[in-house]
Amino acid sequence: MRVLLVGGAGYIGSHVALRLSERGFVPVIYDNFSTGHRRFVDQFEVIQGEMADCECLRHALKNIDAVIHFAAKAYVGESILKPREYYTTNMTDALTLLNATVDAGIRKFIFSSSCAVYGVPEQLPIRETTPRIPINPYGQTKAAFEDALRSYSAAYGLRFVALRYFNAAGADESGTLGEMRSTETHLIPLVLKAALRRSQQVNIFGNDYTTPDGTCIRDYIHVNDLASAHVSALELLFNEGESDVFNLGTGVGFSVLEVIAAAEKVSSLRVPRAILPRRTGDPPILVCDGEHARRKLHWSPQRGLIEILRTAWKWQIANQADDLLSTPLRQSSAQHRP
Ligand code: UDP
Repeated sequence: MRVLLVGGAGYIGSHVALRLSERGFVPVIYDNFSTGHRRFVDQFEVIQGEMADCECLRHALKNIDAVIHFAAKAYVGESILKPREYYTTNMTDALTLLNATVDAGIRKFIFSSSCAVYGVPEQLPIRETTPRIPINPYGQTKAAFEDALRSYSAAYGLRFVALRYFNAAGADESGTLGEMRSTETHLIPLVLKAALRRSQQVNIFGNDYTTPDGTCIRDYIHVNDLASAHVSALELLFNEGESDVFNLGTGVGFSVLEVIAAAEKVSSLRVPRAILPRRTGDPPILVCDGEHARRKLHWSPQRGLIEILRTAWKWQIANQADDLLSTPLRQSSAQHRP
């Protein structure tokens, strides 16, 4: 079975490609390489193309059995400042892909959605039935594309799975794939970079939330657990399963301070930190109820926070350790700014 991975050279797509190939699927990567990395996917068939390019898509979709759509702009803060770019890529261009998929006669589609569709949820843990009230353009575009999938499913017989990722983190155990962005905004890589003194400190965005230690709580899910969920979703579609939506998380939340403490344990290095004001658009707590995925996808995550940090740490060391200036934990407590 040949599966087109649109945006497949990115962080999550490249991990999914590897898992699919291990499970006997043939991944075909479609990417414009604006943020993806060729070296992540050079063992696979690769087509360089834009999602907005109907002709290139038409060619790429020949002899494809299913499509997985990862290609999106995914920074909440940027989406507030540049909604036009978010609506264009995540809606207009994504609809071009969806239309081309349907026109090519392909009826299996997996979509990278996000827990950002829930906004600030009224209930915790978050279930798939929790109302979707996104609070930023990023979440709005993810919710709107889910709606398009539902309408296309009803009208054109498309079967889709929307996977609402919680906080993807960690790296492949091989050390060959991991998070690599020109501008990093995610907590775990930033904490590890601070441990390595690649940055002065990690900034904690708010310690006055109504959580036990005052910092935000998130549900961190290992990227390879996410990847195996895509394999399960694909198997569901190939086994004639109906369209569905799944939360993908562990069901366990960790605060920013807990993540920093765990990173210090894994790295044996002190993480310098500073308290900053809250970041706009950050809900205090996002933790998922994974029951639906457990029951219907027969999937549950196998790795916890320590495994996430252990693999992310290995990746940071392997890829960015050439100017290591860090100080061991026991020698640098004076740099700790609580
Ligand atoms: N965060 C932080 N400092 C940073 C980056 C993130 O305190 O430099 C916090 C952020 O406020 C959120 C959590 O860490 O509560 C996870 O943020 P991230 O950007 O990794 O993912 P998000 O939950 O926004 O998708």
